[in-house]
This record gives sequence, structure tokens and C-alpha cells, in this order.
Amino acid sequence: MLNIVLFGPPGAGKGTQSQKLIEKYNLVHLSTGDLLRSEIAAGTELGLRAKSLMDQGILVPDEVVIGMISNKVQENENAGGFIFDGFPRTVPQAQGLDKLLLQHDTQISCMLALEVDEEELTQRLLLRGQTSGRPDDQNEELIRKRVQEYNTKTAPVADYYAGQGKYFSVDGIGEIDDIFNELCQHIDALKSK
Ligand code: AMP
Repeated sequence: MLNIVLFGPPGAGKGTQSQKLIEKYNLVHLSTGDLLRSEIAAGTELGLRAKSLMDQGILVPDEVVIGMISNKVQENENAGGFIFDGFPRTVPQAQGLDKLLLQHDTQISCMLALEVDEEELTQRLLLRGQTSGRPDDQNEELIRKRVQEYNTKTAPVADYYAGQGKYFSVDGIGEIDDIFNELCQHIDALKSK
């Protein structure tokens, strides 16, 4: 199984690159942000609780997202692999994911981290906010809060995978196809091992 953590701050291009990677490698895309927005749209209790945190740019509790991911992995038992997008966002989430995958006799193959500086991220997200309809992309203060959450709680997740020899950094600024090719080179190198 090919299980990829696509990592990077909000606006780094994880969603765009995920779409291309799932097509090329026939993977199941699991985005906790998308899953949470579906819960909100469906008006579930989980969605209602998550919404108030998401509206403030704050992470939702680890057990909520680990529970959602666990259900999705279970539902896709026969998948060729997964792309985890926007997850794990804390070290306990990363530990929870390792435990979960072990129960399914598999593991993370690699973390691919898209590197983009904060000014570029802010501009990209404000632009995306004009068309995405996402309230958390339309307010600069909220965007900065999300980047701050990333820097304090999420960035350490890179060290977690680096400690396992699974971390690869990719420049996230440039042409979409060039960035995609670089991601593919890392994946193909792993596959040929
Ligand atoms: P995203 O679509 O990945 O930018 O996520 C939007 C919002 O959903 C984030 O700002 C968080 O409030 C919440 N969220 C998404 N994924 C996670 C996660 N793995 N852990 C905690 N909160 C999350």
C-alpha cells in the first residue's frame, strides 16, 4: 500500500496536488477539512461542534479527527493506498494514525511537505476566498491564526516523520505541474525500492 501524508500550511497547494496524485496512483483522498465541512453541511452534532472552532481558525480535538479517519480507512479496506491531506495536524494525531494503520497491517510510506512562505500563503488564501465560499479564507486575521496554529501545533509533525526517515520537503512555489513532478519523483523512488 502507498500511504502518503501530504503536508504543508493552509494554502500550500495540498488539495490541488492531492487531486493529481490520486489520479496518477489510484489512491483514496482523505481530507479532514473536507470531511468536517461535509459534517457541517449535513448539520450533524459533530459538525456543529467543529464549526465554532473552524470559524476561529482553531484545530478541532484530536479524537474527533482520528475517529473520522478511522471510519474512512475502515470503509476503504481494499484501497491501494491513501493520501492524507490536512491530517495529521498534531503529534498525537500522527501517533494515532500509526496505531490505526498498524491495525490494518500497513503504515505511512512517506510525508511530502510543501514549503510556502507566510506572505504567499496569505495572498493565495485571500484569492481562494473570493471563489471557494469558505468563510475561513476570507478574513486575513483568521488566515494568520490558522498559519499560527500550523506553526505551533502542526509543524512538529514534520519532525515526527523525519525521525522515522519518512520526511521529504518540496518547494511549493512554482508551476503546479513542476511541483507535481517533484512529488512524483519522491513517490516513484520509494516504489522502486
Ligand atoms: P483545512 O480544510 O485542512 O484547511 O481545514 C479547515 C479547518 O478544519 C482547520 O482550520 C481546522 O479548524 C479544522 N481541521 C481540519 N483538519 C484538522 C485536523 N487534522 N485536526 C484538527 N483540526 C482540523
